[in-house]
Amino acid sequence: MADADCIFCKIASGDIAADIVAESDAAVAFRDLTPQAPTHVLVIPRDHYANLAEVAAADGTGVSAMVRLAAEVAEIEGIDTSGYRLVANTGPDAHQTVMHAHLHVLGGRAMGWPPG
Ligand code: AMP
Repeated sequence: MADADCIFCKIASGDIAADIVAESDAAVAFRDLTPQAPTHVLVIPRDHYANLAEVAAADGTGVSAMVRLAAEVAEIEGIDTSGYRLVANTGPDAHQTVMHAHLHVLGGRAMGWPPG
């Protein structure tokens, strides 16, 4: 199901252009417009859910499909061995700005911990 007002639904349907890195039946991966690392790719479910927890609650396979595609992106980008971070910002304190579930795939440089 799609939300007519959702920008990531429009990317998933092809109505809005994005730099697509990989796709599967259930998920789409595309480059973030404002990259925070040499590799910064977003992985979204094709169906509209507000956040990752809603994907998990609705469908037993949705989250694993997203993580599988994220791992494929890491291989494509050559960061599967050097390492990468998967981030799912959820809600205002976590700075979620787009209310369509997404994983950030970040890599290509060493990252600090804990996050700021
Ligand atoms: P979050 O803050 O976790 O909700 O992340 C949303 C991300 O979506 C941000 O990193 C934005 O830069 C990115 N973003 C927003 N619109 C687009 C777009 N049209 N194409 C690619 N990335 C986008």
